[in-house]
Amino acid sequence: MSRQYDEHHRSVMVHEALHYLLGGRIEGTYLDCTAGEGGHIKAILKATNGQARVIGLDVDREVLDLAEQNLEEYRGKFRLFNSSYVDFEAVLRQAGVERVDGVLLDVGTSTFQLKSKGRGFSYELDEPLDMRMDLSAKITAADIVNSYSESELSRIIFEYGDEKRFARRIAKCIVNRRPLSTTRELHDAVKAAMPPAERYKRKRHFATKTFQAIRIVVNKELENIEGVLRSIPGFLKQGGRIVFISFHSLEDGIAKRVFREKSDSELKILTKKPIQPSQEEVELNLRARSARLRAAERI
Ligand code: SAH
Repeated sequence: MSRQYDEHHRSVMVHEALHYLLGGRIEGTYLDCTAGEGGHIKAILKATNGQARVIGLDVDREVLDLAEQNLEEYRGKFRLFNSSYVDFEAVLRQAGVERVDGVLLDVGTSTFQLKSKGRGFSYELDEPLDMRMDLSAKITAADIVNSYSESELSRIIFEYGDEKRFARRIAKCIVNRRPLSTTRELHDAVKAAMPPAERYKRKRHFATKTFQAIRIVVNKELENIEGVLRSIPGFLKQGGRIVFISFHSLEDGIAKRVFREKSDSELKILTKKPIQPSQEEVELNLRARSARLRAAERI
């Protein structure tokens, strides 16, 4: 499959993430659970004059080559692993690290995934309905749209897609058109489910929410986030920080709840309310508009 990729990922809330993650330190070992193209890792290494060490994980093996290239000048200061953050403990063991000074999670899709061909994330391309971030995973988006019941599809599109008005109609349309095998077919099913006047009223493309919902299910995103947020604090040094950046209210809600539950034993919450990107950042980077950042410190 040919891969084309021409637009770099812009890291989100870099200044805020560094502020909470480092808390003024310039040394230490940090774990970036969602390395992506390595944008945040580079920012950490730059801000600490190369004195910090970073372990980066990403479940998408294709993006790690780009991270490797982007971080060239800091060779020796970071290590990248093709692993899900669900398995971070095994990676730390492999790297010979027991506890870290900070952990960053920037969940969501990277520009790389959305723009690279053949991955099935985008309604703008016509390709197999895949959406797996982990290419060794078994379940694809096609499996989900073709096997879930109409009511299950309706529920996930409503809940994970925040598609409040048209979830039922979209689910029905998908089921009527099965089997669906391409992103174009999913796009067209969503289109057919919406009254023409509604399709173009929205700020975002009309298929965005449905694609997001299916992607969240394919990659078990909510379960994974809950699991990692529960276990990470046990691997932070005292005073070590966790920074969580999300793009969806359900994800932010998980962090809010887990941090709160741990706030009398393991964590001190550093952000009472989630931090939002500045207006300038949103103007420069549309992807940042729904970003929310929460941070906590190990006590
Ligand atoms: N912070 C990065 C961008 C991260 S984009 C930067 O500044 O460049 C989010 C990344 O998280 C994607 O590359 C995606 O593949 C990865 N990801 C999603 N789920 C994951 C998981 N369970 N484990 C590890 N990485 C994951």
